[in-house]
Amino acid sequence: MASLRSSRFVAQITLAVGLVTGCAQIAVLAPARITETSLGRAAATAGWSDATELPRRSEVVAGQLVIHADFPLAEQHRLVRDLEALRIDVSQRLGLPISDEPVHLYLFENQDRYDAFAGRYFPGFPVRRAFFIETDTRLAVFAPWQDRIAEDLRHETTHGYVHAVVPAVPLWLDEGIAEYFELPRGEQGMHTEHIAHLAGRLIEGTCRIDIERLESLQSAGELSQDHYAESWLWVHWLLNTTPERKKMLQDYLADVRRDLKTAPLSARLAHAEGGAVACNAALRAHLESLSPR
Ligand SMILES: [Zn+2]
Repeated sequence: MASLRSSRFVAQITLAVGLVTGCAQIAVLAPARITETSLGRAAATAGWSDATELPRRSEVVAGQLVIHADFPLAEQHRLVRDLEALRIDVSQRLGLPISDEPVHLYLFENQDRYDAFAGRYFPGFPVRRAFFIETDTRLAVFAPWQDRIAEDLRHETTHGYVHAVVPAVPLWLDEGIAEYFELPRGEQGMHTEHIAHLAGRLIEGTCRIDIERLESLQSAGELSQDHYAESWLWVHWLLNTTPERKKMLQDYLADVRRDLKTAPLSARLAHAEGGAVACNAALRAHLESLSPR
């Protein structure tokens, strides 16, 4: 139910999901977040944490993660180790402290089991490939075992790691960060699907770069593939171009932890980059430098 996660943060039940979006050329399975406001708090939470349908056959504890699965899961499974290492990656790159708050991962053995569970306990939610929720008592990820499970779990688990220490992270930035870290570690956040999508927009003349527009987004229902791709691009630019930009993102997240009303990232960037127009132009130039010739 809706309640205070702490004395300072109103908990959002958030849903990070695989949403089928995209234009005719590219159908990207992009994650989305849906707030309790748009879905109804009671419908989102009623009884799920005690449900007998939850995966219970095996349980693996890996750092902050408590992984419940329908099937035997080895502690040394590469995916488990990968998700555990992700905790350090997220912490170090974003300059965030490590939390001990458990992030529960519920892994269903097949799509039917997952769909039945999601349909019964989260009936207001659209059908999604995987999702993350944050309640006053628990951070939890739900996913069926399927071909893209590694990518989905990296994405959703990133939400868990971030929300454990920055519960009020803005929607667009939350998704941009998760998109960045959903990629395998060796890829340094280079999301080729998003680059291809945005490069197509550049060619069409319909590429719109506007961080303030992203900051105005309030619910996942408003997020299109363009928003996901642009959110990822801002995060990639901040983390991968200069130490000053990386520090700006880190400082912003640290401030959001302490003060929900802290100055938005757009204002900070505009100040540092010589104005909002120059800042948006710098991001566009970054996209052009990444785009295939
Ligand atoms: Zn997400």
